[in-house]
Amino acid sequence: MTLAPPHGPQRELRPLLAPPAEIEERLARAASLVSVQMSSREASDLVMLGIGAFTPLEGFMGKADWQSVCEHMQLRDGTFWPIPITLSVEQAVAERISIGQEVSLCGPGDLIMGTMVVHELYGIDKSLEATEVFRTTDSEHPGVAKLMAQGPVNLAGEVTVLSEGDYPVLYPGVYLRPEQTRSIFDSMGWETVAAFQTRNPMHRAHEYLAKVAVEVCDGVLVHQLLGQLKAGDVPAQVRVRAVDALVRNYFVPNTCVQGGYPMEMRYAGPREALLHALFRQNYGCSHLVVGRDHAGVGSYYGANDAQRIFDEIPKDALVLRPLRIEATFYCRDCDGMASVRTCPHPADSRLLVSGTELRRMLSAGEEVPAQVSRPEVLEILREFYTGG
Ligand SMILES: [Zn+2]
Repeated sequence: MTLAPPHGPQRELRPLLAPPAEIEERLARAASLVSVQMSSREASDLVMLGIGAFTPLEGFMGKADWQSVCEHMQLRDGTFWPIPITLSVEQAVAERISIGQEVSLCGPGDLIMGTMVVHELYGIDKSLEATEVFRTTDSEHPGVAKLMAQGPVNLAGEVTVLSEGDYPVLYPGVYLRPEQTRSIFDSMGWETVAAFQTRNPMHRAHEYLAKVAVEVCDGVLVHQLLGQLKAGDVPAQVRVRAVDALVRNYFVPNTCVQGGYPMEMRYAGPREALLHALFRQNYGCSHLVVGRDHAGVGSYYGANDAQRIFDEIPKDALVLRPLRIEATFYCRDCDGMASVRTCPHPADSRLLVSGTELRRMLSAGEEVPAQVSRPEVLEILREFYTGG
């Protein structure tokens, strides 16, 4: 088969979910272990580990890997890795845990989601992680704020995952594991697949980006973030319906697959773009659409930083390649969708409606031009904003 191979030297998916037949017994045993409460970010990372999206990791990182990832974007063994995947606890919890001990890992609502054999307890220099990974120590940055708020002791060790949380129930047919997308791509006969990352409903500009990807690859995976978002964002369940309406009505059936993944945003801009690329390779993708300010927030990153960082990593770091595409929009003079690379007209010919403005228009019941978003998508969003 010729899909892009999973990341890491073995080039094999390494899901850490326990076999279904063992889960009940393992859960019963886990109930008697010291319990570690995970943050929503850590719980979503555990699910990523469980389904093999973070192949080849075997658990939460130890200090040597943490430091090497922060400073050199690689694990101790030289495998490329751009962002630390760590688990932290408060001092009082750390005092109840010794090396070699097995602990249970709890997600929201005290749900036991996995177990870990603790190999190491260690402190980190949070400002080093912030500077290297987020390029800022500003606590107004949502990713830095979460890092600074996390407990002072990190726990490292191999994990066994016992639950994928609510994702399979909330998003049937959309929440897909890497082995599932790989088998879907195989059945479509695809070899080159571009991932289109999205955490927003898709409007015409996003549709155009995804279709540019279809022009150069066998297919596109519209891959939505299902983990927690910033306040004010459209909830994933509404967004899934809106994306579904777009895909069903405006894409050729054998060119587009909609999927979702459980990770949470860190808003780490360029470094996060690299992590997005890495795990998309595990899902079987050969390309990732990288647009303006990918995975950024506020004005912490330059518009092209996330595109440029792919030139700064070693050539063999990933098999997946970025598809760098500029900002896209509808232009009245072009009379069609265009980008800053294809449209020679002045800014006032271009129809650009910000997310904030669109939300205001929908809430107020105003007409949104069809050049901005498809009617099927607008109908779902209007219903959400007006509570109707
Ligand atoms: Zn134009």
